[in-house]
Amino acid sequence: MNKVALITGGTRGIGKQIAITLAESGYDIALNYRTENEELNETKKEIENLNVKCFAVKGDVSSFEECEKFVKEVIEEYGQIDVLVNNAGITKDTLIARMKKEDFESVINVNLVGTFNVTKNVVPFMMKAHNGRIINISSVVGVSGNAGQSNYSASKAGIIGFTKSLAKELGSRNILVNAVAPGFIETQMTAVLKDETKDDIAKSIPLRRMGNTKDVANVVKFLSSDDSSYITGQVINVDGGMLM
Ligand code: NAP
Repeated sequence: MNKVALITGGTRGIGKQIAITLAESGYDIALNYRTENEELNETKKEIENLNVKCFAVKGDVSSFEECEKFVKEVIEEYGQIDVLVNNAGITKDTLIARMKKEDFESVINVNLVGTFNVTKNVVPFMMKAHNGRIINISSVVGVSGNAGQSNYSASKAGIIGFTKSLAKELGSRNILVNAVAPGFIETQMTAVLKDETKDDIAKSIPLRRMGNTKDVANVVKFLSSDDSSYITGQVINVDGGMLM
């Protein structure tokens, strides 16, 4: 029987590549999505072409009830969740002077509360199995802060505290919890940046390029595998050396 990986926000960008990379490694995939669109159908098809199962579950991670429902659906379908990747995330960038209360709350609710909502519903099954990997997608700005991203940075810093606390709580149950902190990765999230800004960012990175989704997915694959069985509570930067 294949291991099962649940990936939130898996229809595009980093989440999609994580789902494909884990599928290539033989995991059956539970793909959480919020919006039903062509990207979802395309991703599902690509995963199934790798000869593993792909079970898509709808749900907004910022709703505890929806998370409870879709985690239950995954357990009914597969009977287990070996790997949880909390990837779903949004940005609403602006300086504090212009930031509305809703801009702050919505980013915290999706990125941080969403990570709690899914994890809280998955952990009982991992505890029962005495086995599990939880990988939370944070960001380098959760460590360094970033002007114009106080909401996003706070959510990603919160994820790091959550990761370390759970690693301490769940280690004795053989559940390993780590965070991956990407730098600038080419996805729709960063496509909004002007080319000029992207060039400036690339120049400031020791490896002189933005990252791609595979750079992140390969680290998630490692953290899901037996090769990382003595690593927990860590934040792995995948940023071309940007933050050090
Ligand atoms: P992306 O291309 O915008 O994709 C985000 C995914 O999350 C989409 O599938 C989106 O679905 C889903 N999502 C958003 N809100 C959701 C919700 N409430 N419930 C369920 N799914 C939801 O972003 P990305 O660049 O791949 O980012 C993925 C993760 O990496 C995020 O946590 C992000 O913060 C983090 N990250 C990205 C970068 C970067 O440079 N790209 C850097 C550091 C960290 P919809 O279609 O419904 O919106």
